[in-house]
Amino acid sequence: MPLDTRTLVVVLIGLGVLLTTAAVLTWRAHRHIVALGYWAAGALIGVVGMSLVMFYGVLPAGFVIPLSNGMVAATYVLNWFGVRSFGGRPIPWRTGFAAFTLLTAGNAYFVVVDDDIIARILIGSAGIAALSLVAALDLWRMGPLGAPRRAKRTTALLFALHAAFVTVRAAMMPGAGPLDHLLAPNLLNSIAFLEAILAVTAWSIGFLAMTSERLQAELDQLATVDPLTGAFNRRAFFRHAEREIARARRTGEPLALLLLDLDRFKRINDRFGHQAGDELLRAFADTVTARLRKSDLFGRYGGEEFCLLLPDTDRTGARTLAEGLRVDFARRAVEFDGHRIIASVSIGVAECDGADLDTALADADTALYQAKRNGRNQVAVAAQAG
Ligand code: GH3
Ligand code: MG
Ligand code: MG
Repeated sequence: MPLDTRTLVVVLIGLGVLLTTAAVLTWRAHRHIVALGYWAAGALIGVVGMSLVMFYGVLPAGFVIPLSNGMVAATYVLNWFGVRSFGGRPIPWRTGFAAFTLLTAGNAYFVVVDDDIIARILIGSAGIAALSLVAALDLWRMGPLGAPRRAKRTTALLFALHAAFVTVRAAMMPGAGPLDHLLAPNLLNSIAFLEAILAVTAWSIGFLAMTSERLQAELDQLATVDPLTGAFNRRAFFRHAEREIARARRTGEPLALLLLDLDRFKRINDRFGHQAGDELLRAFADTVTARLRKSDLFGRYGGEEFCLLLPDTDRTGARTLAEGLRVDFARRAVEFDGHRIIASVSIGVAECDGADLDTALADADTALYQAKRNGRNQVAVAAQAG
């Protein structure tokens, strides 16, 4: 027995109101995620569009049918815009507007000029399927790699499923018998509204899950990365380093630790100002990261002191890298406020040799002290652990 289509539309509207509320509240709470604004607007317009369906047969068809269908089309366009914005990609204004105009005008034509409900459903379905599919593709491919993307990919699949359903339904439409009304109580209509209820819920939850995933990633970033230099903060560095040390112990691979301290940094601050000092710290971090491998760990130990942990590297390799970094930095001039600031770095190198992190740090620190005492702007290597 087909479900009552009017009841299903009422459920869809009620659910739409709730989901719109959730979308607006989430957007208000996280205004920096602009995508939420598009999705909230899309949800709102969709609810109004669906509500107009209740006025079919009451208001003039040539007015209410194109208007409600246009609003539903706008929801899909805004969903897609939101997806693009979430991925940091340009908003396809023209394509979106063209799709919206085409769907609305096509609908109007097949009400006013040639009243054909099958043609209207085919046009609407083609538009909805196409817009869902492009949103799915954009979500599936959304980078950057390494960023969490489980929620994005799940939402992509939901949109793809929705597109598939709408296509199959449109294909079955012409054979489903005469149809004079969208709310006519036949099985295909019931299933279509039921699916719409599920789809609206699915993508709303998908968008919220994506938002939650993004916020968590932002929190993780705040908790682990030093905002000035982009290096790991001390806590995150130590946590990763402990794991690397345990791994090196297991595999017997060498592991090197470097302590890097900018020379006479206090003088630079005193002479050019704290902001110049910050600029120099950033330039130093750039110099270091330019030479690192993916597996190397770079941390800000504190102030103008940094540490580097180099997996699968012995003291000779570490010394070569340290020497490269030292030369790179000494040659790098930082322009600030009309001044050309040139600074240098001293580096202490130690090999972990199966010792724990504290011992390796103490060794590197002794070597660093040696480098400072010998006149700075140089690399010193800790004596082989006995
Ligand atoms: P040395 O060659 O012996 O290392 O001398 P130094 O002046 O570099 O060493 P010292 O440890 O005496 O001074 C470190 C200075 O770094 C003191 C502090 O004001 C400055 N500093 C620490 N953190 C920051 C920061 O985030 N920004 C800036 N601009 N300066 C910082
Ligand atoms: Mg210093
Ligand atoms: Mg220092």
